[in-house]
Amino acid sequence: MGGLVRRPLALSASRAADFRRCPLLYRLRAIDRIPEPRSRAQVLGTVVHDVLETLYGLDRPDRGPARAADLVGDAVEAFFAPGGGNEEGGLVVVPHADRDAFRAEAAALVATLYGVEDPQRFSPAACEQYLVTATAAGTPLHGYLDRVDVAPTGEVRVVDYKTGKPPRPAYRDEAMFQMRFYALMYRRIHGVLPTQLKLIYLKDGSWLTLSPDAEALAGTEATLDALWAAIESAGASGEFAPRTSRLCDWCAHQSLCPAFGGTPPEYPGWPGSRVVPVDVTPIERPGGAG
Ligand code: SF4
Repeated sequence: MGGLVRRPLALSASRAADFRRCPLLYRLRAIDRIPEPRSRAQVLGTVVHDVLETLYGLDRPDRGPARAADLVGDAVEAFFAPGGGNEEGGLVVVPHADRDAFRAEAAALVATLYGVEDPQRFSPAACEQYLVTATAAGTPLHGYLDRVDVAPTGEVRVVDYKTGKPPRPAYRDEAMFQMRFYALMYRRIHGVLPTQLKLIYLKDGSWLTLSPDAEALAGTEATLDALWAAIESAGASGEFAPRTSRLCDWCAHQSLCPAFGGTPPEYPGWPGSRVVPVDVTPIERPGGAG
C-alpha cells in the first residue's frame, strides 16, 4: 500500500484539460497521483508567480522595476537554498551552475510585465486566491486565480500569468477555456460576472483577453458537468483509455501507458467526489429556466 492519503476529488482547470486530452493521463495524475519530475520551466513559473504575488503585496510606490528585480534576486536565492524547492528526492531541478541564467530568465519575465501594465497604478483585489465551489448541478470545482482586479466602478478582471510561450492560434481556445473556468468559479462564489479575462504571456509581453457573457459561461458550465459525469463514470469502471496525441512527447507516464507498450498500475479505485455546497450564488441562465 502506498502512503498517499486518498481524498475526494474536485475538478481543476488543468485536470479538466488532462481528461479532455487523455483520460489515462487524468487517472495517473488525479487518482493514482503518480509523482512527476518537475521541469525547469515549471519551477521558473513558480518563482515568477511568487515574485509577482509579493510585488503586488507591497505598497504601490514600492512596486517599481528596481524593487521587482530585487524581489527576483531574493526569490532565486531562497529557491536555491537548502529546502527552498530546488531539490527533489535528492536531485536538484536546476543545477547550481545554472543559477545566474535562471535568475536572468526570471528577471526578464518579471520585467516584461512592466511593458503590459504599471503595477504602481492600481492594487489588485486578490492574488493567488484559492476558490472552491460547484456548478449548479453539483460538479465540484477548485483552483487558484493568479490575480483579481476590481475597478472602482465595480468591473472585475481575472488575470492569469503565463511564463511559457503564447499558444498558437489553434490552441488559444484551450487557454481561454481555462479562463472561462475561473470566471465561472468567480461568478458562482461572488455572483458577479467578470468583465474581462486576461492571460498575460510574460515571455513576450503579449496578452489575450476575453469578455465572457452569461451564455458562454453557461456553455462552459454544461461542458464541465458533462466532463465530470464522464470522469465519475470512468472512475466507477476504472476504464481510463489512453488517447495519443503530440502531447505524448511530453508525457511523464509513457512507461506506464499501453499505447507505448507499458502497463498502468492496478487501478486504486475512485476516491469519491468532493462535496461542495451548491447553493453558493444563484446563476441566471440566458433564456430563463435553469
Ligand atoms: S503517453 Fe500519451 S496516451 Fe499515454 S498516458 Fe501519456 S498522454 Fe496519454
